Amino acid sequence: MKYCRFQSGDGAHYGLIESVAGSEKITRILLGVPHEAEEGLDELRSKSMSAVTLEEARLLPPVEPCTIICVGRNYREHAAELGNALPTEPLLFFKPRSSLLAPGATVVRPKVSERVDYEGELAVVMGRRCRNLADSEDVRPYILGYTCLNDVTARDLQKKDDQWSRAKGFDTFCPVGPVVSDEPDPWAGTTIETRVNGEVRQQGNTADFIFTLDVIIRYISRFMTLSPGDVIATGTPAGVGPLQSGDVVEINVGGVGTLRNPVADESTSS
Ligand code: ZN
Repeated sequence: MKYCRFQSGDGAHYGLIESVAGSEKITRILLGVPHEAEEGLDELRSKSMSAVTLEEARLLPPVEPCTIICVGRNYREHAAELGNALPTEPLLFFKPRSSLLAPGATVVRPKVSERVDYEGELAVVMGRRCRNLADSEDVRPYILGYTCLNDVTARDLQKKDDQWSRAKGFDTFCPVGPVVSDEPDPWAGTTIETRVNGEVRQQGNTADFIFTLDVIIRYISRFMTLSPGDVIATGTPAGVGPLQSGDVVEINVGGVGTLRNPVADESTSS
């Protein structure tokens, strides 16, 4: 199942996505918030609407998290390209909710940074409250679905600051979407691809994770409570690089779709 969130004349709605004659369309308005559906996505009631394509809709971020938590250096080749040793346990940081950006909206390069990088990632959307999981506990029942996330990073500020709140936390630095899907199976291997102006820059697969989702989610659950709707960005594969004003950056996750955002300099867009 796939759903999105979109703005219409009477407010923001979650919408069910179905394939109609070969193209993906929003076909029904979901009554309620998907991550609050205790019986699961299939139990959510919905009402009909006139179908629109994702391109026609005014999409919003498809998530409303309390917390966006990210894993750094979760692919060997990416750790190596930045000259970092392999972590022995998950390296975690947060992005603020205020950095969330809708599909199609503009990533703004702040004036104080000279190098703003894309980081294409698979993101997990939590479906159930999760606290202190045991080593043997299956994490899958806690996962609602998956989406694409661009962990936009001011690389120069990341190197300069002791911690990464500023480098990772600017407004517009967390594009996410376009949909949440329960189709990917990261245990079996899900592809992640980043393109800039149509040119492939990153190609990864969750089969190459240093820490699997089981390890990551259990580890997080032992120091903080994960709530339904929370987002976990699982790290970026090798190939990170800078974005310039005028670029269009796309993150594709297998089974989800493509998250596309234009890029502009702060001075020209605000
Ligand atoms: Zn990242």
